[in-house]
Amino acid sequence: MAVDLAVVHSISLPPGCFGGDAVRHLFCGTLDCDAHPYFDQLRGLQVSAHFVIRRDGALQQFVSCDRRAWHAGASSWRGRANCNDYSIGIELEGLEGGLFEPVQYHQLARLLRVLSRRYPLADVVGHEHIAPGRKADPGAGFDWALLRRLLRRPSWGLPPAAAATPREDAGPAAQAG
Ligand SMILES: [Zn+2]
Repeated sequence: MAVDLAVVHSISLPPGCFGGDAVRHLFCGTLDCDAHPYFDQLRGLQVSAHFVIRRDGALQQFVSCDRRAWHAGASSWRGRANCNDYSIGIELEGLEGGLFEPVQYHQLARLLRVLSRRYPLADVVGHEHIAPGRKADPGAGFDWALLRRLLRRPSWGLPPAAAATPREDAGPAAQAG
């Protein structure tokens, strides 16, 4: 199936803790689930994304784009189920509902432009848009209007360009995405 969708996520482990290597370990299946109380709920979880963009804009790749990554879970977009089958998953290091760094948007836009040379990307959406009610990342702090400006691809479908409005209660209790 052709890859024509990019899905933006947010993740940090524990939620709100930036700069560590827990996300890398989670995606590589090497997370020590005894290292932090929050990690207990991640025991046995098998997830991965193609890319992670750190707070400083550094780009990490975990899965080849020609292979399926397990980032979307139960999901659908434009009437097609199982978004993992036809999407690239990109995690921004961040907190669901919180703000993201300008350098992360620049790296994300650059990555999407590069990917579009090889894959017929048509839409860029959040995890919250393909699994509404079940997932809420990246959330209200993600600035879709800024991403749209940086992409300069009017034909691409992006969620409505509401201004980023971080959730008041965005804090450590928020879910990892
Ligand atoms: Zn997610």
